[in-house]
Amino acid sequence: MRTIKDLVDISGKTVFIRCDFNVPKDEDGNITDDRRMRGALQTIRYCLDRNCKVILASHFDRPTPGVYEEQYSLATVVTRLKTLLKIASKITLANDVVGVDAQAKVAELKNGEVLVLENLRYEAGETKNDATFAKQLADMADIYINDAFGACHRAHASIEAMAHLFDENHKAAGFLLAKEVNFFEKTLEKPMRPFVAVVGGSKVSGKLEALKQLLDKVDKVIIGGGMAFTFLKAQGYEIGNSLVEDNLLDEARTIMIKARKQGVKFYLPVDFVIAPEFSDKCVAKYVPSQEIPSGWMGLDIGPASSRLFREVINDAQTIIWNGPMGVYEMDKYAKGSIKMSHNIADTHATTIVGGGDTADVAQKAGDVDEMTFVSTGGGASLELIEGKLLPGIEALKM
Ligand code: AMP
Repeated sequence: MRTIKDLVDISGKTVFIRCDFNVPKDEDGNITDDRRMRGALQTIRYCLDRNCKVILASHFDRPTPGVYEEQYSLATVVTRLKTLLKIASKITLANDVVGVDAQAKVAELKNGEVLVLENLRYEAGETKNDATFAKQLADMADIYINDAFGACHRAHASIEAMAHLFDENHKAAGFLLAKEVNFFEKTLEKPMRPFVAVVGGSKVSGKLEALKQLLDKVDKVIIGGGMAFTFLKAQGYEIGNSLVEDNLLDEARTIMIKARKQGVKFYLPVDFVIAPEFSDKCVAKYVPSQEIPSGWMGLDIGPASSRLFREVINDAQTIIWNGPMGVYEMDKYAKGSIKMSHNIADTHATTIVGGGDTADVAQKAGDVDEMTFVSTGGGASLELIEGKLLPGIEALKM
């Protein structure tokens, strides 16, 4: 995969950079974590230092195409970008994506200036990988750079169709994308052992393929979060009203058998924080995993599991962590995830955190700086682990 540094001379050119500015916001619309934006700065600065005209584009959330609702606008992103870039030159936001305003602003764009297009998903063509929309975007620029690792697993117009419209001398990966891909590939290819995967989150289904792939690579697997209950039920445990995917009980059994056959140590939580309903406004208590009463649900791992998992990762040299240990969004059920984050950060291992939620936990725990690498892409990093080819990365190669 060629990176922006491999492009012979981009000086003074109009460069289109597909970024991932799909940042989390709170209920008041404030950006709560701008890591993805900070990750994009290196590529943007590289272009500005070469006096390029820079066009930035990103999706944000899931607006209804064709409806320009303010809550999905990139206006807040542009304000934050001005603070982060700390440059004197102009940074403007177009009122549309490929419409009259965007076209006029592209025509007026001067060297060393930045134009941000509105939310790509305001246009129906984006998620449809539409060739006409991709062409409209491509016509704006001389060079196409993809720096949106978090969106590379999606065959969308600004990620795939657009990349195909540039030849190899006029398209490349940005610094962030290159760093993400190199890190995952290198780690998965030659991990220092013991190599431990910590997998959590809501469902087995979303991580099934990644789990299977990981079994061939890791020495130990720790399962937490809602997905643990499918494995526990598959072993015959009573799990009350906890989250479960009954259609995956056989898959869960197969995974555990495969782990045993391959000598991969497989750890499930030994206790939980349980509550009678999915709420933080009710009583909650600790119970061993064998004792979840009917009508109650497990919403976080308990203290004994946290201690057990700390022992398990103690000697690890490489740790991949994807998925929280509980419903961390509610403080009452965040302890297991926060402790997991501290425990991972405290090891001497190379630690890789993947997934928006997981990065959010590490951030809340104050551990981000202690981790070796925090990926900006959840789905994309899972697909890399699964060994899948990512459309955005493939399109840069062709
Ligand atoms: P995922 O997107 O699959 O990584 O899942 C992240 C989500 O899993 C978070 O929103 C958590 O609230 C949720 N989660 C974690 N543990 C549980 C649990 N025990 N019950 C229900 N949801 C959970």
